[in-house]
Amino acid sequence: MLIRTTITEVKNAVAAYRSENRDGIVGFVPTMGFLHEGHASLMRRSKAESGLTVLSIFVNPLQFGPNEDFERYPRNVERDLELAGKENVDIVFMPPVQEMYPKPVKTKVLISEVTDRLCGASRPGHFDGVGTVVSKLFHIIGPDRAYFGLKDAQQVAVIAKMTEDLNIPVEIVPCETVREADGLALSSRNVYLNDAERIQAVVLSQALNKASELSRSESETPASLRGKLVQYITEAAPLSDIDYVEVLGYPDLTELNNNLPLKGINESWIVAMAVRFGSTRLIDNRLFTAKEVASHV
Ligand code: AMP
Repeated sequence: MLIRTTITEVKNAVAAYRSENRDGIVGFVPTMGFLHEGHASLMRRSKAESGLTVLSIFVNPLQFGPNEDFERYPRNVERDLELAGKENVDIVFMPPVQEMYPKPVKTKVLISEVTDRLCGASRPGHFDGVGTVVSKLFHIIGPDRAYFGLKDAQQVAVIAKMTEDLNIPVEIVPCETVREADGLALSSRNVYLNDAERIQAVVLSQALNKASELSRSESETPASLRGKLVQYITEAAPLSDIDYVEVLGYPDLTELNNNLPLKGINESWIVAMAVRFGSTRLIDNRLFTAKEVASHV
């Protein structure tokens, strides 16, 4: 496994592979490190589908707000490299902040509309930082495919829109969310939770199961479902503090027709939520297709 910390070196390493493998596929897994089984599932998918797998580990200051957890974001490079090694990653790119941003940034990638709701609304500027760093990484690595987790479904929608709008020649591959045995979505931020919070954090995935059940009823509209989920979370988890619970079309993330039951909706939609436990903000979501809801009848 090659470990590269400069842009020039990682470009050279990818170029060396390309020059010897004219038809080879380069797969790319961008992460912020503190790797877990969710990240490993993306690496595995890339390894299965690509000739060369590049993993990046970079905690991107540009996507954190002034009062967010950039400084205390969990980091453990040694463990990350061990996990990447186990997954047979070919190249790890782990640049210092100075390498990615040697001078103050004057150019940003701003993605509109699809960033208006959910985390885009709660974390102003977050997706400008994500769009900017992912587009820089795409230019540096030049991957054929890039693997993203649907745990961050809005991020998948934002990056897919950005690559389409800017004609970046990379296929965005969305990957299923990996969960703990009780349903909690794996996240590097789960380590912040204390014991009581960890127990109650299962409410997010339980609320999504509830959404699945409720959406099969004849009368459930986006607004009524949202209201029931807010009530469910508040009652089931007294330590929770809801940031948002939303039921929207996916991947456009626009408002659904609230006069129509979900069963009658002819597009894909998402239930997405962000819930705080103490200072820890957790997100989770579930995607639904019209066919899926109808097939449960
Ligand atoms: P992060 O390091 O949190 O920025 O995540 C890097 C990538 O891993 C993103 O594409 C995430 O969506 C993905 N990811 C994070 N957690 C999970 C999970 N539990 N299951 C699947 N993918 C995940």
